Amino acid sequence: MSVRAEFDDWAADGRDKGMEKRHWHTAKHVLGRMPIETGDTVLDLGCGSGYAARAMCEAKDAGRAYGLDGAPEMVRNARSYTDDDNVGYVVGDFQSLPFADESIDHAFSMEAFYYAPDPVGALEELRRVLRPGGTFYCAVNYFEESEHTHAWQDNIAIEMTLWDYDQYREAFREAGFHVAEQDTIPDRETEIPPASEFPTDDWETREAMVERYREYGTLLTVGVAP
Ligand code: SAH
Repeated sequence: MSVRAEFDDWAADGRDKGMEKRHWHTAKHVLGRMPIETGDTVLDLGCGSGYAARAMCEAKDAGRAYGLDGAPEMVRNARSYTDDDNVGYVVGDFQSLPFADESIDHAFSMEAFYYAPDPVGALEELRRVLRPGGTFYCAVNYFEESEHTHAWQDNIAIEMTLWDYDQYREAFREAGFHVAEQDTIPDRETEIPPASEFPTDDWETREAMVERYREYGTLLTVGVAP
């Protein structure tokens, strides 16, 4: 299945906003760490509802923010949520970015990078468009150590790359990035019911839910373009 076929349906169902709400728990901390300076040009890969591009302009004073997504309906929704002329949304693919060499100051991605058909190629493509010293803040909830996320692949028709901490760092280096930091950011906002309420519809035990949200949360890998 294509990105368009899978995610256009998600956008039509309003799942773009559902993801924004959940992902914001940790995405806001990632965005808060980015070294964006006033007037910078920034990019969000796999933007969904487009919240990150809006936030980078509003809260971090970026001069121009692009959100890129392979699903035209996601882009259409994202455009409808803002009238800020400095924020733009484009349909495009991670493997071939519609931007000139060294034209982007900083890039962000949340819960999207692992859908790239060729993840190392996608990192090389990002390196091409980032200016020297530019950064890529890559955030994922689906990774090897966070075992309670592994079943997600069963519900998605696009192949997802399941890397562990080391594989993320190795791939960044293989694509020519320096790795500036790697960290896990806990989700402290998803509500975890008391032990007596388990099992729930989604969780067998409270321990498993605590592990997924409070211990593993979101894996952040930060690359710097030399
Ligand atoms: N970042 C958003 C959306 C995550 S869902 C959030 O945090 O809520 C992942 C998004 O990545 C989807 O909108 C999907 O269309 C997009 N995507 C997946 N593979 C892609 C690819 N190869 N090229 C461009 N976009 C892609």
